[in-house]
Order: sequence, then C-alpha cells, then structure tokens
Amino acid sequence: MAGFRQLLRNTPQGLYCPPGDFHIDPVRPVDRCVITHGHSDHARSGHGAVLATPQTLAIMAARYGEGFAAATEAARYGEKISRGDVAVRLVPAGHVLGSAQVVLAWKGVTAVISGDYKRRSDPTCPPFEPVPCNLFVSEATFGLPVFHFPDASDEVAKLLHSVALFPERTHLVGAYALGKAQRLIALLRQTGYEKPIYVHGALDSMNALYQAHGVALGALLPATDSARNSLPGEIVIAPPSAIADKWARRFADPIPAFASGWMMVRARARQRYVELPLVVSDHADWDELTLTVGELKPEEFWITHGNEDALLRWAELNNVAATALEIAGYEDEEE
Ligand SMILES: [Zn+2]
Ligand SMILES: [Zn+2]
Repeated sequence: MAGFRQLLRNTPQGLYCPPGDFHIDPVRPVDRCVITHGHSDHARSGHGAVLATPQTLAIMAARYGEGFAAATEAARYGEKISRGDVAVRLVPAGHVLGSAQVVLAWKGVTAVISGDYKRRSDPTCPPFEPVPCNLFVSEATFGLPVFHFPDASDEVAKLLHSVALFPERTHLVGAYALGKAQRLIALLRQTGYEKPIYVHGALDSMNALYQAHGVALGALLPATDSARNSLPGEIVIAPPSAIADKWARRFADPIPAFASGWMMVRARARQRYVELPLVVSDHADWDELTLTVGELKPEEFWITHGNEDALLRWAELNNVAATALEIAGYEDEEE
C-alpha cells in the first residue's frame, strides 16, 4: 500500500488525496472535497469547496439549503478536472441519481473510489462504469456471501401480487427518501402500473428533484390528502420510519412492506414489523462486489466500510492485496 499512499490515504476526516489536496466524502468539515453522491453519510454540509455532479449538488442544496458549502463546482460524468497534477474524473456508480465514482490519475497510477455502488440496472440513473485501475476503493455494506439479491423486478412483482390478493388493504412500503423511493416508483411504472402512487410528504422534495432531472415517475399524490384517507387497494410509499408509526394507522388495514437489501435478514424485517419484505438494494451484493474486483483487476483493493472480513479473505484467496480502512461515519441512511 506504501506506493498508493502518496496518492490517497485515510485521515480522521476520511479519504484524502495529498497531491490534489482534497478529501473524498469527508465525514467532518474540510476545505476542499469531492462528493460521490447525495446520501447524508457521504454528503455533509459545512465544507469549503465541493466538487460533485450537478445532480449531487442539486440534492445537497435541496437537503441543506443553497449555502451548504462555501463554493461548489459541478463536473459532468466524464469531464476532466485538474487538481494540482491529479486528473479527476467522475463516472457513473449506478447507486442513485448523480452518484459517481471518483477516478484519479496521477503519475501513471489510476485509483478509483467507487463510493456506494451497484451493478444492477436502475431506471433512475446510468449504470456503473467499470474503470480498470491500480487501486480500487469500495464499500462492503453487503460484503457477505449470504447477500445474493434477487432481481428487483421479481420483488416488485411480489408487491403487485400482494396488492391483487388484498384489494381491501393498503400496501404501505418503506423506502429511503433518496434513491430507493424513486427507483421503486420507476420499477412499478416499468411493469405498466399506471394508477396514482401515494407518497408521504417527506419524499416530495426528492421526487420533484428526480422529475426535474428527467426521471419519469408518473402520477404521485399525497398520502395524507383528507379526501381519500384510507386508500384501500393502493400503494403508499413512505420513509421506513413511518411504516410502523402512528402515521400508518390512517390506512385501511395496512400491510407494512420495506424495500431494502437488509430485508434478506429476517430479524431486521421482524424488528421493523414488516409483513412484506422486498429485497431491493441500491448497494452491490456479494456477487457484484467480487465480480467487480475480478473485472477491474486492481493491484490493491481498499474497503471503506461495511462487512469487510469475508471480502478480505476472498481477496487473499484471489491474490489481491486488500486493506480494511474501517472509516467511521458511513452507514445506511435511516439505519
Ligand atoms: Zn449511498
Ligand atoms: Zn453509504
């Protein structure tokens, strides 16, 4: 790792690139940084200068207000930016709208910091772009062989099947406000589901932002409109915290559902009183993580956060030098 540490190193604020003098997804306020995507554990307010995709900057402004950083610079996917003698490029990570991997090129070395990513198709953002590199820095949120996610379309079919089976009940689906909610809505639309989808007010700003960036979500109505309160036979999408809340009692004998990779873990579903677990994840599962490292063939593989032990062992068996950085401060939103 000694060679690559000149280009990239772990600091108390998070990953830092010394020759370019900037951090990546810092967990504490810094002077200059690159932000991979808008989730609150990666995109925090209070930095000096922020470089990110236009979509990520828009998400940060919507969540924190226009003054979330002293200065901002937008970089479109593929655009070449210079920081000192480091060339910086943002390429799609396939995680949520605007999500990017950070590609650093310096003195013949290429480092890719993936941020959170997935390899599955997602109608709300462009797919992960594999960039061969010497150093690959990845998350490992679902870095255990037990995590093998089904097709998201099968999970959406499961939801629609339940809606058909229980027309007198409301299907109340918990989904993270940034990314998951919009992907779920877009997946429902892909199946030809054209009825209005009812949404909790906490999702309004991100839904509007996605639509403003060209992601079609169809007819969305407020879930709490007093005119039609109990919504039998309808799908309501809400933040995960709302589905087991007093808020949920207004609906017709609701079936609590939750769209998350964590729904592979039965205890997690039970904990949240979820009757209909939907395994839909915006993170890479075990197969995606290992396939990606196998495809990129880095000399070194650094793991930022998550379940790293099995991946470290896998890397050892596959002759990739791997290191767990154990960066504190990254977790799933609302987990
Ligand atoms: Zn994320
Ligand atoms: Zn994350």
